[in-house]
Amino acid sequence: MLRESNLSGDASSQRLGTRFLIFPQPRFIPGYEKPEPVWISTPRGSVGVGPSDHRLYVVDPLQPKEPYSAPYLPPFIGDVFPPAEAGSDGHFDGILPGTRQFLAAHTFASVRRVLDICESYMGYQVPWFFSDTYERLEVIPLLDWDNAQSGYGYLELGEDSTRHEPFPFALNFDAIAHETGHLLLLGAIGAPRYSPPSIDFLAYHEAAADFTSLLGLLNFDTALDHILRRTRGNLLISNELDRLAELSDEKQVRMLSHSLRISDVGDEVHDRSRPFSGALFDTLVEIFQLILVERGLASLDTRALREVRLDLGQEDLDREGIQLREAYNTSHFALKSALEEARDIVGEIFVGSWLYLDPDNFSFPLASEALIEAASKRRARRFADQVYLNFVWRGLL
Ligand SMILES: [Zn+2]
Repeated sequence: MLRESNLSGDASSQRLGTRFLIFPQPRFIPGYEKPEPVWISTPRGSVGVGPSDHRLYVVDPLQPKEPYSAPYLPPFIGDVFPPAEAGSDGHFDGILPGTRQFLAAHTFASVRRVLDICESYMGYQVPWFFSDTYERLEVIPLLDWDNAQSGYGYLELGEDSTRHEPFPFALNFDAIAHETGHLLLLGAIGAPRYSPPSIDFLAYHEAAADFTSLLGLLNFDTALDHILRRTRGNLLISNELDRLAELSDEKQVRMLSHSLRISDVGDEVHDRSRPFSGALFDTLVEIFQLILVERGLASLDTRALREVRLDLGQEDLDREGIQLREAYNTSHFALKSALEEARDIVGEIFVGSWLYLDPDNFSFPLASEALIEAASKRRARRFADQVYLNFVWRGLL
């Protein structure tokens, strides 16, 4: 009897998943010096050495390896560093930062975490776009290379050489989440089949990869706490005045908080991606504000404004700023719950819109309409007008 209950206890704890450590931001960003424990969905005991599971595996080449470029593609064949292994408890959070095995475990967990988050918003498992050839994604955590890339069957990382000392992308959740975002989007909607990809398609890919990275960040407790504490919960107003970017240390927030419209940017794909990711970010911030209003935690109802960015008067800003600041110390957890709900609502419509996208007939107006369509079919329905207005303001509709 005792033995039976122990066994069932063990089986249920396996189902909790497997624990890893992830730095939500590179550790030189203030407030992010320590990694955060996260659970990935693969049951404890089912993550093998590498780490590896049924979706991906890490290999860490011992000798210098060239980045993949067709026809040079996975699998990697050659000698490898000793792989990361689970501790005797079946978890990977005992591996010490600073070791080669930590880089492997951190990269694996970051990719796996982004899959878990996006697939939970979608409600189904996205197949790899290369599943005709490879069952699993190959992940290479560290190359002697100043870039990161994902492609047919692989995701591989070099080092960020823009810093005084090169910093491995393997420890940069932003970079890994961005590349995983590209892979997920390709898995969900594919690539154009009948013509070369349009510039809007390529720019959308960058916007979607950046927004995936933001959703990943906002699923860390540390990040939610830091962002709210730093701004005293005043996201809408700081965002409308473009102060949020200055106030933020998180790269994703600095990238997405701006007021660029489509007429302000050129044809370079990263530039052209910014109005779209900016509109997604504004939508997130506005839905957060409206949830605060619904819950009696704020009073500025943006639905009464014609254009939030133009119509917010100094008086509105001052009044709202003071109210949020004064209430902040007693409302942190209520604000955090509202931000989590806004994040999940926008996450659901963002990945939900992929169902309506056609790579062969793609434009920003069609991608914006897909978001509104997704919003109207989900719990975001009551905010669908705000989604529309944010994309109109950016010149995308
Ligand atoms: Zn990219």
